[in-house]
Amino acid sequence: MLGLMQDWPLVISKIIDYAASQHGSREVVTRSVEGPVTRSDYASVRRRALQVAQRLVREGISPGDRIATLAWNTARHLEAWYGITGAGAIYHTVNPRLFPEQIAWIIDHAQDRIVLVDLTFVPLLEALADKLPTVERYIVLTDAAHMPETKLRNAIAYEQWIGEVDGDFRWLDVDERAAAGLCYTSGTTGHPKGVLYSHRSNVLHSMALAAPDALGLASRSCILPVVPLFHANSWSIAFSAPMTGAKLVMPGARLDGASVFELLESEQVTCTAGVPTVWSMLLQYMEAEQRRLSSLQRLVVGGSAAPRSMIEKFEAYGIEVFHAWGMTEMSPVGSIGSIKPALGALRGDALIDVKCKQGFAPFTVEMKITDETGRPLPWDGKSFGRLKVKGPAVASAYYRSDDPILDEAGYFDTGDVATIDTNGYMSITDRSKDVIKSGGEWISSIELENLAVGHPDVAEAAVIGVAHPKWGERPLLVITPKPGRSPRSEDLLAFMSGKVARWWLPDDVQIVEALPHTATGKLDKVKLRERFRAHRLPSA
Ligand code: AMP
Repeated sequence: MLGLMQDWPLVISKIIDYAASQHGSREVVTRSVEGPVTRSDYASVRRRALQVAQRLVREGISPGDRIATLAWNTARHLEAWYGITGAGAIYHTVNPRLFPEQIAWIIDHAQDRIVLVDLTFVPLLEALADKLPTVERYIVLTDAAHMPETKLRNAIAYEQWIGEVDGDFRWLDVDERAAAGLCYTSGTTGHPKGVLYSHRSNVLHSMALAAPDALGLASRSCILPVVPLFHANSWSIAFSAPMTGAKLVMPGARLDGASVFELLESEQVTCTAGVPTVWSMLLQYMEAEQRRLSSLQRLVVGGSAAPRSMIEKFEAYGIEVFHAWGMTEMSPVGSIGSIKPALGALRGDALIDVKCKQGFAPFTVEMKITDETGRPLPWDGKSFGRLKVKGPAVASAYYRSDDPILDEAGYFDTGDVATIDTNGYMSITDRSKDVIKSGGEWISSIELENLAVGHPDVAEAAVIGVAHPKWGERPLLVITPKPGRSPRSEDLLAFMSGKVARWWLPDDVQIVEALPHTATGKLDKVKLRERFRAHRLPSA
C-alpha cells in the first residue's frame, strides 16, 4: 500500500523558492571580483535566477544541456546555479586551477554550450578558445561598465544579458532524478572523471549537511564558504544556506588570511568551511597581527587532513573545529566531527584526539571498511582497510563512462584507507596509493605529515615511500620551512621521535622550497614520488 502523501519533487528550484518566501531579505554579501563588497538577498537571488533561466531558454538551451561556470564564490555565480538548474540545464563547475589543457579537455568532454566566466579568467579562456568548439557563447560575469574588450565568441556582460529579459518565467518541470550539476575530479593520473549530481542528490545531501551535527545552520546563522563553488559542489553550502535562511557571505577572489579575516569579522560570520591551506593562512595572519574573531563559532576543515596543531590553535581561540572528510563523488561530504554525547566529558588532549579523526557519517551516508578480499573489518579503531560508501548522494557511475564503480553490494570504493572506532568515528590513515609499505606493514603518511607540521619551523610537510632494498619502502619526509627558518633534519627527527612507533620514523629528510599541489590544493604525491624516485636513502 502506498502512503497518501503528496509527491513533492526534491528539485533545486524549491530551495530558492523557499528562501525567497521565508527569508527573502536575508543577505547574500559578496566581495565582488570588481573590488567592492556588494549586498544582495535571497529574494533578489531568486528574481535574477529566473532571468538567467528565461535568458537561457531564449538562447535555445534545452533540459540536460551543460553550462560551464569558471567563477569565484559570488552572488552572481549563485544566481547562475539556480538559473541554470531552473531551466532544466546542468551547471558544470570548472576548476580554474586545473592545467589549461585539462580545462579544455573537460569543457569539450562535457560539451558545454555556454560558459559563464569571471573577469579574472577571461584571458585564460581566450588562450583556449580555439580548443572549445562546443561553446556557442561566453557570458562575462560583470556589468557593461567593466566589460573588457574580448575576442571570445558572442561575448556579452552578464548584467546586459539578463537585462534583456524581465524574469516573468516559471521554473521548468524536471524529474528530481534529473542531472543538475557536473564536477570533474582532479585525478592526478589519466583524464579527469565527471561526477553528475542530480536535483534529488543535492537536496538530500544539503538537508543532511545543514543539520546541527554538521554545518549546524539556522536562520540566525551566517556562513562564509571559503571552499569554492568550483570545488566539489561547495560542500553543499550553495544549497544548505538558502534552505535554512542563513546569511551567506561570498569571499570572491581574495582568499588570503587578511581578506578572509576581514569578512569573517565585519559580517559577523558564525560558521565557515575550507581546506587546511586556507586556515593556515588565516592562523598566520591572526598570530602575526594578534587579532581574534568575535563571532566565529564553528570552523569546518576538510579536503585534506587537518593537522593537530591547527585544530589546537583554533580551539584555543574558542572556535570549535569540525573536521570533515569527503570527495567529489560524495557530493562531497561523507563524515564530519561533531562530538557525540558519549564523548561529552572529554577535555584537553583526549578531546583533540577525537577532533583529529574525520568524524562520523551523517544520515544518508553508509560506511564500511574491508580488507583486500572485501571482507568487512570491525569498528574497533585499530583495524584499517579500504573505506567504502553508499548513499543517495554517492556516485553510481562517471559521466560518459561505462566502467562499473560499485561493488556487488552497491558500495563505492573511496580509495582511502581508514579505521572506524566503536563510536563510529572514522579516521583516514592514507590514500591507498600513498600508504607506505615497509616490511609488509603499513605506515600512514598522513600521520607523519601531521606530526612534522607541528614543528614550529615547518610550513608544509609531505611523506612518501622510497624504494629500499631490505624493507621494500621506507618513508622520506619532505618539508618546506616557514619564512626565515632553517630547521635541521636531526632536529625534525628528534621532534617526531617518541610520538610514533620507532620504525615509522622517516629514514631521511629533504628540505625544499615548494611542494607540488593538485588543482584542489592537495599535495601532489605522484609528482613528488617522480621527483624522488632515484633518491638513495642513507639506510639503503
Ligand atoms: P576531492 O574529490 O578532490 O575532494 O578529493 C577527495 C579525497 O581527498 C578523499 O578521497 C581523501 O583522500 C582526501 N580527503 C578529503 N578530506 C580529507 C580529510 N579530512 N582528511 C584526509 N583526507 C581527506
